[in-house]
Amino acid sequence: MSEAVAFLDLKAQQRRIEPALRARLEAVLAHCQFVLGPEVVELEQRLAAYAGAAHCVTVSSGTDALQIAMMAEGIGRGHAVFLPAFTYTATAEVPLVLGATPVFVDVDPATFQMDVEDLRRRIASVRAQGVLRPRAVVGVDLFGQPAPWAALREVAEGEDLFLLDDCAQSFGASLGGRKLGREADATAISFFPSKPLGAYGDGGALLTQSAERAALYRSLRTHGEGASRYEVLRTGMNGRLDTLQAAVLLAKLDVFEDELAARGRIAAIYDDVLGEARGVRVPARVPDSESAWAIYAILLADGGARDGVQAALRAAGVPTAVYYPRALHQQPAYAPHHTGGALPVSEDLATRILALPIHPDLSEGQARRVAAAVRAAT
Ligand SMILES: *Cc1c(COP(=O)(O)O)cnc(C)c1O
Repeated sequence: MSEAVAFLDLKAQQRRIEPALRARLEAVLAHCQFVLGPEVVELEQRLAAYAGAAHCVTVSSGTDALQIAMMAEGIGRGHAVFLPAFTYTATAEVPLVLGATPVFVDVDPATFQMDVEDLRRRIASVRAQGVLRPRAVVGVDLFGQPAPWAALREVAEGEDLFLLDDCAQSFGASLGGRKLGREADATAISFFPSKPLGAYGDGGALLTQSAERAALYRSLRTHGEGASRYEVLRTGMNGRLDTLQAAVLLAKLDVFEDELAARGRIAAIYDDVLGEARGVRVPARVPDSESAWAIYAILLADGGARDGVQAALRAAGVPTAVYYPRALHQQPAYAPHHTGGALPVSEDLATRILALPIHPDLSEGQARRVAAAVRAAT
């Protein structure tokens, strides 16, 4: 009964895919093309086909994917980039690294995704102040679920803003029956080991329908090179995905759909056991979507209740995590750049959200044990 529950179990996954994984790694060791080798090309083709995107350019991380996408648009000093206050730090870090200013937008209390009405208000307010020029909106597909893309596209088109999908957590999710990857002008994904499709180190990719953007991304990831090597057209970076990581990802891509289904079964068990539990709110679904279930986050009544549930679960051998303990505008690094006042929903979520274990190698029995422990603690 007390088989330990892991928050994430990369060893179990490795055992499941070991022969394919080793064959892929052996192939790279045989050809020794460690940078931009054939596995990188194959992976780009497979990812584009999977997401129904015209172009895929792999890069060195999800963060670098965001950065290359913004560099390609010339985003920098004096520009406002609108993004949710409740997300991972990288979303806000990239505009600052480029000299631009992140403008934090609140999120929806039920789905945790960007609040489009608040986005409209904040764009209007930045325009009225006349100091920063609005340039881009970054929609984040938080925890595996899609951002409200139809509404975000309408805002971006109406305001003439670049629309970037930070899909780092949610590759594999779908909206309106199609996989994420072409909801925005460009889509950034991450292969950090704990993401639904994870490498054995850092990695990322950009998807886009635009051949011009894809060509720019390829140039920027290799120091801004032109058609010939050592012709430098623009300031770029060293932002390529290693061939060994592409090999790992190709082995994992073969089982990705099965893993997404397994994550969905865990989520359904949590919903089933916790949906009616007092003092617990299970995650609301974004309409007409399928989640990649990167994270299954419940809301407790308040911070004290969260501490209690976390401690009870720890005692029962169940690890949990808090994504995110602070909204980004409350972080010491970002607070000095924030002039937009309170973001009440993001601030409140940070005090009482709690993530339960969810991964493809969690058994249904373990999921029931986790859910029962949450029920017993509330
Ligand atoms: C993980 C993550 C990133 C960054 O991806 P890395 O590959 O770790 O650089 C960016 N945005 C969000 C929302 C993420 O969760």
